[in-house]
Amino acid sequence: MEIIHVSAECYPVAKAGGLADVVGALPKYQQQLGHIAKVVMPMHRTKFLYNNEWETVHKGNFSMGAMNFDFTIIKEKTNKLGFDLYCVDIYGLLDREKIYSYDDDAERFMAFQLSVTEWLSKWEHRPDVIHVHDHHTALIPFMLQHCYAYKHLSGIRTVLTIHNAQYQGWMSWDKSPYLPAWDTWKWGLLDWDNTINPLACGIKCADKVNTVSPGYMEELMYAANGLESLFNYEKDKCTGILNGIDYAVWDPEWDTYILDNFSLKDVKKGKALNKKKLCDDFGFDIKYPLIIFIGRLVGEKAADLLPEAIQQAFENSESKFNCLILGSGETAVEKALEEMKFRWFGYYHSQIEYNEKLSHQMYAGGDFLLMPSRVEPCGLNQMYAMRYGTVPVVRRTGGLKDTVKDYGEKDGYGICFNNATVEDIVYSIGRAIELFKNAKKLDEVRHTMMGINNSWETSAGKYIDLYNSIYK
Ligand code: ADP
Repeated sequence: MEIIHVSAECYPVAKAGGLADVVGALPKYQQQLGHIAKVVMPMHRTKFLYNNEWETVHKGNFSMGAMNFDFTIIKEKTNKLGFDLYCVDIYGLLDREKIYSYDDDAERFMAFQLSVTEWLSKWEHRPDVIHVHDHHTALIPFMLQHCYAYKHLSGIRTVLTIHNAQYQGWMSWDKSPYLPAWDTWKWGLLDWDNTINPLACGIKCADKVNTVSPGYMEELMYAANGLESLFNYEKDKCTGILNGIDYAVWDPEWDTYILDNFSLKDVKKGKALNKKKLCDDFGFDIKYPLIIFIGRLVGEKAADLLPEAIQQAFENSESKFNCLILGSGETAVEKALEEMKFRWFGYYHSQIEYNEKLSHQMYAGGDFLLMPSRVEPCGLNQMYAMRYGTVPVVRRTGGLKDTVKDYGEKDGYGICFNNATVEDIVYSIGRAIELFKNAKKLDEVRHTMMGINNSWETSAGKYIDLYNSIYK
């Protein structure tokens, strides 16, 4: 099978979150299963672009409303990622450092999708599957079926993976002329609540739709940021496939970012050495448990609850602990977290940035990883933490519910709570501190979770089954 993944992000080329990790790993594992998997993404101006060699494979042009654009497709020369990687360049639109958050994102991602479709339309053969990821690429199934210029591609199977249904790419109907001439009887496929909603359109038009965990798909049936009735209507083509983690990148035995490599055999010593480095760097006392948080500082991750919860835990807890936060996001949350540095100096530190290396060091050196998420489509952090012997402390939601079992249950290995509230977080921090004091139990929990196989092998096969379930 030849599968084309179309995505805004791909690790290690450009990453904002879990989407990049998935698109950087799934194709590699699909290749290992004997398929041809390729990735097409925008040519963001990241380090990866400048540090690697590229060849131009296509030059073309397209119109977007009254505007005309030239585009170039380049390919990474050495198959460095384990699959063919293509990047689309459009002068003035995709030649930026950041992936998102520009005022013209609607135009940028529309242009990206137009370039990809235009390029595919020039191929001499057809791929078997076009696999689009999130709203930035979700108009492609519509374009293939209902734009006259691309009708000859309409037989290609399409799959939409939803990594996050909160963001839907809404745009006003004024922008409909951006699409190449299309069958206007089909306007209802683009529309949701009087706006063009690319995610909703993808759900309606793709042959199959999946989310990145079964638990999240169940939740979307009643909480989908306005799309609940659509998910219910389309439920027969919707499924949940749990993300895996890339064992080639996330392996404490080989990870080049961490100070001391370790495995299940010497986890206690390995974690102690990595923890010591973190404690030295941030002025913590190694004898206290180290609780970490890594992620976007936004409402979905319940980051707004962290300042109050951590504060209360410090004030109420009879036992001491350390807390290290890595993330960036909402200004008010960043500010509140930064202010706590002074009051809890020696026990608390926040690092407001995106830092891949530090994140690996934290997974390796932390004792507990806190994830109080309100919404968590899959969550990769808890799986990375488990692989690095760090106990996840999670709210039972979406993929967290699917991947973490409370250590109070039979064969359990994490700490789970029900509500994204300050009370539940404080209580769970208390449970983490208690577990830390029980060295034998902690050791047992670490061994159980490090023994769990969360690699992509199983999930990559499930995607192949999903493609095969579409008959054209
Ligand atoms: P989401 O995609 O919703 O942000 P996921 O749990 O699916 O959440 O994936 C988050 C990914 O981004 C993980 O690889 C995590 O380590 C990484 N990450 C998030 N914030 C940061 C940060 N500030 N620095 C480094 N890595 C981060």
